[in-house]
Amino acid sequence: MNDTEAGLFAAAGCGLLALIAVGSLVIQILILVWVHNDAKARNMDTPVLWLILVFFLSLIGLLVYVLARPSGDKVPCGHCHRPRLVNLVQCPHCGSD
Ligand SMILES: [Zn+2]
Repeated sequence: MNDTEAGLFAAAGCGLLALIAVGSLVIQILILVWVHNDAKARNMDTPVLWLILVFFLSLIGLLVYVLARPSGDKVPCGHCHRPRLVNLVQCPHCGSD
């Protein structure tokens, strides 16, 4: 292997590492957005606190969130069409019954 080839391999390795780093960052952001939207749809008081917990504890935080959240199916709100827990009296997004 000459110097040019070694340089190419090093560049490819760095590119791969950067790709993995960016990929895991994107996945983390998608999980955080999902937790926030899910907590809001379930009318939880503290979606931002859950966001912080999942941010710092990652998959363990996500597991704790899934176990701790109010259970039940989500349905689209008849008024604003955003997801809400089926047994809520009021929509957490638009406040309609
Ligand atoms: Zn609504």
